[in-house]
Amino acid sequence: MQRKYIPEVDKEWSKISFKWRRVLPKTRDRPPSPIKMEYDEEILDELVNRSNNFIDDVIKESKLEATGHAKLITTDKIVIDPRVRWKCRIPLCFGYGMTINCPPHSPTAEDMKEIVSCYKHAILITVYPPIKNHIFPSILTGVHGDVDTLNKMVSLIEAEATYLGYYLAMGFKGGPCLGCGFLSPEYIKGLMEQKNLPVCPALKGEMCRQYLRARPALEACGVDVFATVIKCGEKPPYIINPEHSEKGVPYVGWHGIVLVV
Ligand code: SF4
Repeated sequence: MQRKYIPEVDKEWSKISFKWRRVLPKTRDRPPSPIKMEYDEEILDELVNRSNNFIDDVIKESKLEATGHAKLITTDKIVIDPRVRWKCRIPLCFGYGMTINCPPHSPTAEDMKEIVSCYKHAILITVYPPIKNHIFPSILTGVHGDVDTLNKMVSLIEAEATYLGYYLAMGFKGGPCLGCGFLSPEYIKGLMEQKNLPVCPALKGEMCRQYLRARPALEACGVDVFATVIKCGEKPPYIINPEHSEKGVPYVGWHGIVLVV
């Protein structure tokens, strides 16, 4: 089947895809862990340590001027509110319907309540990227890399939880799915030029270009990320609008959640 991708997006997508996907791990000497179905303080402490290392490594690798950390939380602190998902629709978000990881295709708030209720412990990821990337109009070109970096952290931490025996670990992140170059600078350029841009291949029944890495947006699944992070003792987020200048915004926070056990 011939795919109709604009060359710029295809190029961007390939760049992301190949840069971050290793065919084989660097070493293959890791002993397998027995599966775990219960809370294990020692293992979860180890997971938090490794998560913090991953966050530092990804920030270093992506050359992002950012800081970040992971903490263990209990899932009763995850706030799910149907209004959050409705905010994707009213008013309509630019990302609505664009990928399989956003509404109306992503898990609903009801689905998410059911999923979260099966877990008691999770890792909350917090990243503070450069403020300038989130101020209008530079957000149009800056946010893409930051959200994709967060996506990478979530997928690595979820994989690590699995390696440690928590085989039902499941990760979500803030922001839309950008794995195929959606909302990359090239894509935004195409939008401005009113080009007929591609949709998420997974919506057409094709294989996800970032399978095992692409994650639903937390907010798309009805998670009130702002309320959740406050409950978890993180700094309260700011609402950033086009009227705000870089100087006026104290920090920008992005978050991911990996449900563990
Ligand atoms: S194919 Fe996968 S990575 Fe690409 S937009 Fe769709 S869900 Fe995201």
